[in-house]
Amino acid sequence: MSASPWFEAEQLSEHVVRVSEPSVHRFYRANIYHVKGHDADLVIDFGMGLQSLGRFLDIDATKPILAVATHVHVDHVGSFHEFDNRFGHAAEEGAFSTMPDLATLAHYFRTQPECVSRAPTSAWDAAKFGLNVAPLTNVVTEGSVIDTGSASYRVLHLPGHSPGSIGLLDERNGILFSGDAIYDGALVDDLPGCEIDEYLDTMSRLQELDVSIVYGGHGAPMSRERMNHVAENYQRKMAR
Ligand SMILES: [Zn+2]
Ligand SMILES: [Zn+2]
Repeated sequence: MSASPWFEAEQLSEHVVRVSEPSVHRFYRANIYHVKGHDADLVIDFGMGLQSLGRFLDIDATKPILAVATHVHVDHVGSFHEFDNRFGHAAEEGAFSTMPDLATLAHYFRTQPECVSRAPTSAWDAAKFGLNVAPLTNVVTEGSVIDTGSASYRVLHLPGHSPGSIGLLDERNGILFSGDAIYDGALVDDLPGCEIDEYLDTMSRLQELDVSIVYGGHGAPMSRERMNHVAENYQRKMAR
């Protein structure tokens, strides 16, 4: 095994650390966010689960970790099971309990050529890749609130990319964690479970949000202008 760590961490702001897995194929290289709060920390999304995320994160054992999955796709839930307090949307509750390929799309990763650029463990075999089940302990829906003592996050149900896609909106500070509902890149609407009409509704809704920074499920953080640009591009593409 290589001596360099599997995960990479980058401090994005005083409270937000972005973690990624540089050796994972770029299609599946998703953002993991560790958001520090006064009473609790948030961890948003969980990578591929090829090494332990919990062991990598700089965790303060005196505070609970609220683990929030933006949706049940394989590139966001790999290490979800490592955390005790698991939040996800009701529409995908069953999928979190069983992690079926049809909902997680893990079979796409299993058969992806060069799915990783180096082996995460000595026994690595892509064909045997699977996800651990991670039943939700906290089922959320539109309007649910998750509080860290430093900030309050309202759950937005943002379907289209997947039935149970959610965003977390900190209204006071204008911060949105958007999962794969929107990110700085080409949006994916042609997977099993995608609904284009719902995705278009989600785009309209996002454009109405008064946010100053958007942390997406993939890619770099976006300004409100950048997010609106991505949404408009998608709307224009669909209108053709
Ligand atoms: Zn996704
Ligand atoms: Zn993704």
